[in-house]
Amino acid sequence: AKQRGRDGMQQYSPAMESNGIERLVLQRELRLALEREEFILHYQPQLDLASGKISSVEALLRWQHPERGMIPPLSFIPLLEESGLINQVGEWVLRKACAQARRWQLAGLPLRMAVNLSQRQCQEGNLIPMLERVLVDTGLAPELLELELTEGLVMHDPEKTIKALRVLKGMHISLAVDDFGTGYSSLSYLQRLPLDSLKVDKSFVQGLPASGEDAAIITAIIAMAHTLNIKVVAEGVETAAQLDFLRNKHCDGMQGYFLSRPLPAGELFNFVRRVPVL
Ligand code: C2E
Ligand code: CA
Ligand code: CA
Ligand code: CA
Repeated sequence: AKQRGRDGMQQYSPAMESNGIERLVLQRELRLALEREEFILHYQPQLDLASGKISSVEALLRWQHPERGMIPPLSFIPLLEESGLINQVGEWVLRKACAQARRWQLAGLPLRMAVNLSQRQCQEGNLIPMLERVLVDTGLAPELLELELTEGLVMHDPEKTIKALRVLKGMHISLAVDDFGTGYSSLSYLQRLPLDSLKVDKSFVQGLPASGEDAAIITAIIAMAHTLNIKVVAEGVETAAQLDFLRNKHCDGMQGYFLSRPLPAGELFNFVRRVPVL
């Protein structure tokens, strides 16, 4: 039975992963999905807590399957990685997201565009020339692009990663570590990376403000990140009480259903135009 989530998307079901035939069928369909233009990006706004303004958006991939409906990324990104298709799809995502950010900028709405990078994409030798090409082709200023990397990716090959990140920083692209707190990286290690921000994983936000443990973790992350001159963004903020807590702790940014779920491009534009300073 298909379960629909709050986005009208199918809930992630382990069955999609464990059934071998299903996986093969999906992999074959994924190969065709790019040419058939079945991928789409939704955009979730991020609020800058100091200014009260929406400063950026995160591009999130969806697959509009002709029969199965909207499929969430965690159901198919592992398959894309396994088959190597992630590099092609990842380039498509970057192009699409940068072109969109450029259009919004030309329409008077300069929002920074955050794009998720998978580990496999970073290991690919041509990431940097590809990024340069996309920025030139779309005309987007690199200052308006942010790349979100997971801790695992950063820790995979630290020396190589540090070099690559320094090149990206030299290009004036912003860098964020995603899902912070779920991996193994220590803040002292992160100090060696040219990072602009940390996105605290939503599992630490969910228990706020009641959970003393989550509150202590978030407070410590914010304090330490700030001494390293790194901004902190909380993800998965769903309630006013969570937002109040984060504001009081001088968290720099927030993302979550409390502000808005990820939206199609047109709706995002209207949303940002409409909302007052929060
Ligand atoms: P992520 O990068 O951590 O993205 C945040 C996820 O949390 C998104 O799920 C978003 O819809 C969801 N979310 C946002 N606000 C809330 C909230 O208030 N409560 C809860 N419970 N969830 C919230 P989504 O869109 O299903 O994406 C899941 C993951 O798939 C992403 O996690 C990211 O790791 C990956 N992903 C998405 N798009 C791409 C892409 O273009 N490339 C790569 N490599 N990975 C992607
Ligand atoms: Ca992300
Ligand atoms: Ca995240
Ligand atoms: Ca995540």
